[in-house]
Amino acid sequence: MNPFFILNWKSYPASQEDILPLCAALADWRARVTSGTVVMCPPATLIDDTQKCVAADERLASVLIGAQYLDADAKTGGLTPAMLRAANVSAAIIGHSDRRAQAGETNADVRSAWQQAIAHDILPIVCVGQPAPDGSFAGLREQVLGAFEGASATDVAQCVIAYEPVWAISTTPGARVEESADIVRAIQVIREELRGATPKAILYGGSVTGASVSNVLSSGAVDGVLVGRASASPDSLTELHEALTPFFS
Ligand code: PEP
Repeated sequence: MNPFFILNWKSYPASQEDILPLCAALADWRARVTSGTVVMCPPATLIDDTQKCVAADERLASVLIGAQYLDADAKTGGLTPAMLRAANVSAAIIGHSDRRAQAGETNADVRSAWQQAIAHDILPIVCVGQPAPDGSFAGLREQVLGAFEGASATDVAQCVIAYEPVWAISTTPGARVEESADIVRAIQVIREELRGATPKAILYGGSVTGASVSNVLSSGAVDGVLVGRASASPDSLTELHEALTPFFS
């Protein structure tokens, strides 16, 4: 397996000073562990500073820089694929639940965004997840069907899908990592709704920490993790690295 580790720093780092220790922790880990795909997704204002960290440390040479969202069309505050490519960004989180809830992103927006990402050689990391625990996974099915309506198997093969149950994301009060059995079932649901198409990878995201990541990856259902809060502080990032190492060796 080619495991994925996506670091979604959200808006936790505010300045270059905040990202330097994160880049240093990641560089120490990548000096020991070189396999897999690692994507750092800084806030848009820190993309340039993150690029500088990567350029200054060859241990980070294999690490990709990703955006936290991508807009298919030009708009105030937008981040278009052309802007991202010009900033040497090579991946983008698309359809994160924060963007769906706060920026009103719809499945149609998500669809346009991953299509545009592919057209600009940007790796789309498409987030899907039901808003509340739901045994029928109806909300998840609706998002997968909507986000990939009309997609060919070739399109889907170029996308990473991140399963992120909204209630498990750490900024939700009472959030906790989803049970392994439920993750396994949700990934089956995603595969069912993709009707035979196979994405580049399927990841889990939602309250993953160094303490829980082995359990998530040992389920065997996912190809990696998308981590928010725990990836954005040097201590919790280092704990994550230790727990991720066996899966990246
Ligand atoms: C996220 O926001 O994509 C996420 C997975 O966050 P956290 O790990 O903090 O739950």
